[in-house]
Amino acid sequence: MDYFPLFFNLKQRRCLVVGAGDTAFRKVTLLLKTSTHVTVIAPKINTDVQALFQQQHIELIEKVFEDTDLPGYDLVISATQCKQTNSHVANCARQHNIPINVVDSPELCDFIFPAIIDRSPVIVAVSSGGASPVLARLLRSKIESMIAPAYGQLAALADKYRQKVKASVHPAPQRRIFWEQVLQGSIAEKVFAGRQQDAEQQLEELLKHTDTVQSGEVYLIGAGPGAADLLTFRALRLMQQGDVILYDNLVSEDILELTRRDADKIYVGKKRSDHSLPQTSINQLLADLARQGKRVVRLKGGDPFIFGRGGEEIETLMQQGIPFQVVPGITAASGCATYAGIPLTHRDHSQSCTFVTGHLKDDTINLNWEQLARPNQTIVIYMGLVGLSNICQSLIEHGCAETHPVAVIQQGTTHNQKVLTGTLATMSDIINNETISPPTLVIIGTVVNLHQQLDWFNKQ
Ligand code: SAH
Repeated sequence: MDYFPLFFNLKQRRCLVVGAGDTAFRKVTLLLKTSTHVTVIAPKINTDVQALFQQQHIELIEKVFEDTDLPGYDLVISATQCKQTNSHVANCARQHNIPINVVDSPELCDFIFPAIIDRSPVIVAVSSGGASPVLARLLRSKIESMIAPAYGQLAALADKYRQKVKASVHPAPQRRIFWEQVLQGSIAEKVFAGRQQDAEQQLEELLKHTDTVQSGEVYLIGAGPGAADLLTFRALRLMQQGDVILYDNLVSEDILELTRRDADKIYVGKKRSDHSLPQTSINQLLADLARQGKRVVRLKGGDPFIFGRGGEEIETLMQQGIPFQVVPGITAASGCATYAGIPLTHRDHSQSCTFVTGHLKDDTINLNWEQLARPNQTIVIYMGLVGLSNICQSLIEHGCAETHPVAVIQQGTTHNQKVLTGTLATMSDIINNETISPPTLVIIGTVVNLHQQLDWFNKQ
């Protein structure tokens, strides 16, 4: 982060704008949205700036800028057409330790202006760090459309009741849940619809029955196969409400970044043969944290109900009466196949698809080989890399051709995705001669032949 976002309190401060053309006018107008005192210095004043002066919104000094003009100001903006004047103002400001912005010259600036979404007192600021103001503005318009115009009124309501709620709703996590109910439920909707009084009445009601405020709950969320933008909207919304996040090693940094910044993050494993927390302890931890009134996000790679032990986790929650939600995610089979250009089913190749685990138990893999060796189907093997030669051998023994196609997909959907293709006879050697970083998924079937032709991801 080259620019650190801060919100500057300009109340009762003094700002100097050097220049009085169109650009200066735009900056002055922006500053006047606050209750700051604005002085404009320029030898030539345009009519818009002149009008602001006549309406007594600003102070105007008609002269060329000099070093001695600076003391007493808290912020300086240089918005003249003249490069020399701009860099002179910047130098002087720096000597006086006054933060300076020079319009369109990021190298001379101490601070830059973001694109602003004003729902005062809520302000959203978007910056591209000077790289592309147009991009920042495009982003702003997207965000504008997501934040109801009456968001400010909602914040004002929260402000009005803040002390009262603080005094009557304990402890703090419970209070957060209370506010989340208010700020995103039917009360918020009333504010957005302009029914301020009804909203306040409902809030008062809720305050009288704070014991009905939800206790903690668990969100068992499928985080998808890797790429952060493959999350569902629901996953994202709930991730941002979690007080505590339990995640395992399949959940990428990019995805963790999308959880609430102040949430506690607990790593609970598991890599192959390194189970940092046994499953029963994870199950119990989820229940215990929720009982403390917390919103617990359990983030799992892919889909929680596909080789994810999600069933065991909610079984414990169910037994102990803890409320929970399960959010499906894109499972590795679907994500990897799609990003490798290997359709899992295809009219000419495969009429069914089976997901199996290749996890070795006592060095053997207990699968229904007769069934898996039948033609016109696709087999997807999770956790199959270590036992792959064993798997290929068993399929050949049960009637599959040695030339039957196999793909191994490393870190599917991410920028590290690698797709290796071969056959039941060759795959073992291929993987032994490659450095492969987990996780990897195996796909077996003639659909793998389509990879050459349909590998869209690498051709983008
Ligand atoms: N619940 C997960 C699967 C967990 S089992 C899901 O629905 O996807 C872990 C196995 O999933 C790994 O050993 C690997 O076989 C597979 N896997 C998960 N993400 C993957 C990815 N991005 N690329 C390749 N394989 C992946």
